[in-house]
Amino acid sequence: MHHKVYLIDVTNRDGVQTSRILLPKLSKTMLNIYLDEMGFYQTEMGFPTLKHEVNYINANLELVKRGAIKRIHLEGWCRAVPEDIELAFKNCPEIKHLNISMSTSDIMIQGKFQGRKTWKDITDSLVRSVKLARDLGAETLGVNAEDASRTELSRLIEFVLAGKEAGADRFRYCDTLGADDPITIYETIKALTLATKFPIEMHCHNDLGMAEAVSVAGAQGAIESGVDAYINTTINGYGERAGNCDLVSTILALKFSHGLKTKIPLDEHVDLKKAWKIAKYASYAFNLPIPITQPGVGANAFAHESGIHADGALKDRRSYELYDPEDVGRGEPELLETGRIITTGEYGGVKGFRHVYDKLGIHFSDDNEARKILELVQYANLHTQKPLTDDELRLIASHPDVVRRILTVNP
Ligand SMILES: [Zn+2]
Repeated sequence: MHHKVYLIDVTNRDGVQTSRILLPKLSKTMLNIYLDEMGFYQTEMGFPTLKHEVNYINANLELVKRGAIKRIHLEGWCRAVPEDIELAFKNCPEIKHLNISMSTSDIMIQGKFQGRKTWKDITDSLVRSVKLARDLGAETLGVNAEDASRTELSRLIEFVLAGKEAGADRFRYCDTLGADDPITIYETIKALTLATKFPIEMHCHNDLGMAEAVSVAGAQGAIESGVDAYINTTINGYGERAGNCDLVSTILALKFSHGLKTKIPLDEHVDLKKAWKIAKYASYAFNLPIPITQPGVGANAFAHESGIHADGALKDRRSYELYDPEDVGRGEPELLETGRIITTGEYGGVKGFRHVYDKLGIHFSDDNEARKILELVQYANLHTQKPLTDDELRLIASHPDVVRRILTVNP
C-alpha cells in the first residue's frame, strides 16, 4: 500500500484567529467551497464552541447535505477537555470531524496551568475527550499536541499512543512556535511514527521562514515510516505572527521539487489549477495583498526583465521557470469592466439587482422572490463590506436559507 500526503487547510481556524486578520462568515463559507473544489481532504472550519461560529458551522454542514460541498471533511477545532467536546456537539449536533488540542511541552504546561495540571492530567483529559467525542458521533478525530516540537519524544509517543488506544484517527504534531528545521523534524517524525505507527499531521508555523520546508520534511519522515501524512496549510500563509505553511507553496514543493516529487506522492484529488482562484479570493476577502514574490501566485512569479533572463525565458521558458502559469491556474486574461458598471449590494434596488443576476444567467420570474433575494444580497454586502463576487451572488441565489443562517448572529 502506498502512503500519501493529504492536505488539511486551517485558514478558517488558525488563519482567522490571527491578530489584525478578519474574515466574514460568508467568506469562510466560500473558502470551504473552494477548498472542496480544489480536492483538499479537510478544512478546519472553525470553533464549534464559540457562539458566533455556531450558525455558520451548522449552515455549512447543511451545504454538505445538499451536495453544495461534496467531498471535503468539515472539521471543528476545540480543546481536548470533555466540557468542550460536550459543548461542541450541543452547539453543532451534526458535526462529524474534530481536531482536539492539548499543550504537551513543559514550558506550556507550567506556564498555562501554573501547577494545576500534571502530565497525567493532560493524557487523562485527552483519553476522556476522545472517548466522549466518539460516543457523541465523531467519525474522524485528530489529537493535537500543541508545542509538540518543544516536547520530549518519549512524552509525544505516550500522548500519541494514549490517543490511538482511546480511538483517535490521527495525531497532529504542532510546531507552534515555528522552531523546527527540516533535518530535525524529519528525524523526529520518523522516530515518532516508527514507534507509534499512527498517521500524522504536520502543523508548522513560519517564525524562522521554513514552514513549508519543515512540513514537507516531516511528511517525508512519516511516509518513509509507513504511515499517511497530512500537511496543514493556510491560504497565502496567513496565520499567527509570521504565518503558517502556505497552501500553494506546499503543493508546488510536492509536485515540482527534484527530490519530493518522486519520493512522496500527493493525494491525487488535489487540483493545483485552482490555486490562483483561491489565493486571489482569500487576498480579496481578508483585504491583504499577495506579496509580488509569492510562489506561484505573486505578480512576479512569471515575470522576466533583466537581459539574460528575458532572453533565456523567451527562447525556452524552462530556462528560468520551474513550472508554467497554467499549472497554478493563471493565464486567463482577467476581464475588468472599465466603462459603465451596475453593481448590487447594501443600498441596491431591484432593477440593478436583476441586471446583475441576468448577466450571471440567473433569472427571477417571481417579483416576490427577486425582492427576497435582493434583501439577502443587501445583508450579505453589509456583512462583507466589499463588493460581492459572482460566486457569492450565485451562492446567495441557490441557497438563500443557508446564507440567511450564515449571516445571522445573536449576541
Ligand atoms: Zn497553529
